[in-house]
Amino acid sequence: MSPAQVYLSLGSNQGEKRSLLQEAVKGLNDFEKSRVLKVSTLYETKAWGKTDQDDFYNLVLLMETELEPLELLDRTQALEIKLGRVRHEHWGPRTIDIDLLLYEDIEILEPRLTLPHRHMLQRRFVLEPLAEIAPGLCLHKQNIKHYIEVLKDEPIRKIGPLF
Ligand code: ATP
Ligand code: CA
Ligand code: CA
Repeated sequence: MSPAQVYLSLGSNQGEKRSLLQEAVKGLNDFEKSRVLKVSTLYETKAWGKTDQDDFYNLVLLMETELEPLELLDRTQALEIKLGRVRHEHWGPRTIDIDLLLYEDIEILEPRLTLPHRHMLQRRFVLEPLAEIAPGLCLHKQNIKHYIEVLKDEPIRKIGPLF
């Protein structure tokens, strides 16, 4: 079986945000039967949902993996814990957040794993870095850039390369 292509969104708004994201990318690349192929620029974003907290650093990456979606989710959650994530309030501050955006064209509608990610089309901090590494990507027969044009959330700032 050839590996699946998976897009992930990573964010941090607590602690050494840049080095936490670097560690997370290295950790993902070290997963068995997996390899990180592309990493977007780092972006700085105002917190989404709950706005009374420190700004986020965000990026999107593409990896290939032979792990199944739920295996990949388990490993990303273990990596979050390894990098100091403590689960407090929903949308609250966190050292690291790793979300699965797209796993090939698989659709899953379970609370534990929803694919495509349920909020991805409303989030500039997901769509802009995603368009950067996958400009030809289409969802529901629309190019990713279409979804960026209709966004109403605030602009985000490009910081530069992660490494
Ligand atoms: P959001 O999902 O809106 O970005 P969040 O990332 O802050 O919010 P978490 O507290 O990190 O939410 O995760 C809550 C639960 O969401 C996790 O326990 C996980 O099982 C579930 N989940 C559902 N779909 C996904 C997905 N595509 N990627 C990651 N987790 C998911
Ligand atoms: Ca998230
Ligand atoms: Ca999450």
